[in-house]
Amino acid sequence: MIGILGGGQLGRMLALAAHRLGIGVRTLETVADAPASSVSELYVGSFDDVDALDRFAKGLSAVTYEFENVPVGAAQHLAEHVPVYPPPSALEVAQDRWAEKRLFRSLGIDTPAFAIIDDDASFEKALREVGLPAVLKTRRGGYDGKGQYVVKTLLEARQAYQELGRAGLILEEFVHFDRELSLVAVRSQEGESRFYPLVENHHREGILRQTIAPAPGVTPAVEAVADIWAKRLLDHWNYVGVFAVELFAIGDKLLANEIAPRVHNSGHWTMEGAEVCQFENHLRAVAGLPLGSTAVRAPTTMINLIGQIPDRASILSLPGAHLHLYGKEPRPGRKVGHINIRVVPDADHAEVVQQALRRAQSDPT
Ligand code: AMP
Repeated sequence: MIGILGGGQLGRMLALAAHRLGIGVRTLETVADAPASSVSELYVGSFDDVDALDRFAKGLSAVTYEFENVPVGAAQHLAEHVPVYPPPSALEVAQDRWAEKRLFRSLGIDTPAFAIIDDDASFEKALREVGLPAVLKTRRGGYDGKGQYVVKTLLEARQAYQELGRAGLILEEFVHFDRELSLVAVRSQEGESRFYPLVENHHREGILRQTIAPAPGVTPAVEAVADIWAKRLLDHWNYVGVFAVELFAIGDKLLANEIAPRVHNSGHWTMEGAEVCQFENHLRAVAGLPLGSTAVRAPTTMINLIGQIPDRASILSLPGAHLHLYGKEPRPGRKVGHINIRVVPDADHAEVVQQALRRAQSDPT
């Protein structure tokens, strides 16, 4: 049996993939009605409670996690008793934007210009080094665009600096990117890595709305750069499992923004679009099984369902559309499911995507 820290939608989709392989799943969550509760043995407890962690770990063959804000101490504690994949060292770096960008640099991975801010002096220095416009971010704890401000003027920069607490920050060059791409990759316990193709991501209000897989117009040279960067990171950590790198593309030039040491929203298209999906490949890696093919079965567009659940029939009647709901109560800004639309013969894919977008915004049933 495999343990998953966190029982959100990623935990749920991991559990569903595990069931297909005959692998049992136990999840640790702080709430009882988490999305994974209906498909796994759910333990309710705090990630900071050593006794709860020990109870959870009893009898497990490996532990993984589905969100990157798992306390590193909890992962390290568990690692004393049971293999924890991905390694807690990857989790630690992913939780700190500064450590992450420094690691990128040390591995020869290009990033936007950045500087650390811990007091007034380092704030002034960062402004001189990075310049404006820039993005001021908290080093820790930000997600989905929270804990960050785009600052265009000195006044805006000073306001954001006060707002974000004047320490534990990073200032990044504002990148006028053409588009945002990401790469999902998987590495096995034997050190074999496989890469899904680069995909194109569209965000609004800091939340991923749509992924186009594979990203159109990516040259083999650009794809190779992304694969090499991902491999350097995976090998650096002796990583096991799936991870994602988020990138900015300016023409054929890539800059790394951040990594996620887990299955990733921009990899949801793989459920119907790839030979073996990211959830199954993560499980295969964690369970010490052979990795599956990351090849594309059909180009796929993934649409996130945010804040409302559309009428099922209206989505399922669209050619090539597959619906995934997470068992969550709709709330504004909350991801409650996604639609994967595969390119199928005899259907106008662009038109089907437009219809799905319209229908996804219809009233919940
Ligand atoms: P992050 O939390 O770092 O993933 O940032 C959330 C979103 O903000 C990204 O997906 C980008 O759309 C935007 N963003 C973040 N950093 C930058 C940057 N340095 N320049 C331009 N846009 C950025």
